[in-house]
Amino acid sequence: MRLPRKPLRPRKALRIREVEVLVIWDRCKGCGFCIEFCPRGVLDYSDKLNARGARPPVVVRPEECVGCGLCQDICPDLAIFVVPVKSEEGR
Ligand code: SF4
Ligand code: SF4
Repeated sequence: MRLPRKPLRPRKALRIREVEVLVIWDRCKGCGFCIEFCPRGVLDYSDKLNARGARPPVVVRPEECVGCGLCQDICPDLAIFVVPVKSEEGR
């Protein structure tokens, strides 16, 4: 049987983007969208309250983050951002 296209066979191991997840602490209203919808379970509620009386997200499993940006895209208050980390090797 002839396949409609060739299966992907990457020559090198794929590199996952290195990112940092930043929260603008007092802008967050604690809705939890970013926490609930993160596909990798990276975020959880903080133990501390912000100026709005909400519990913003904190990164609890940084090694699991794949840099997909869903947390940033889903936040209704623009309170969480995914920013690339500059490699020391300049890549
Ligand atoms: S970038 Fe993706 S994997 Fe990382 S914390 Fe946000 S939603 Fe989760
Ligand atoms: S989605 Fe935005 S407002 Fe809601 S908990 Fe996350 S950072 Fe806070």
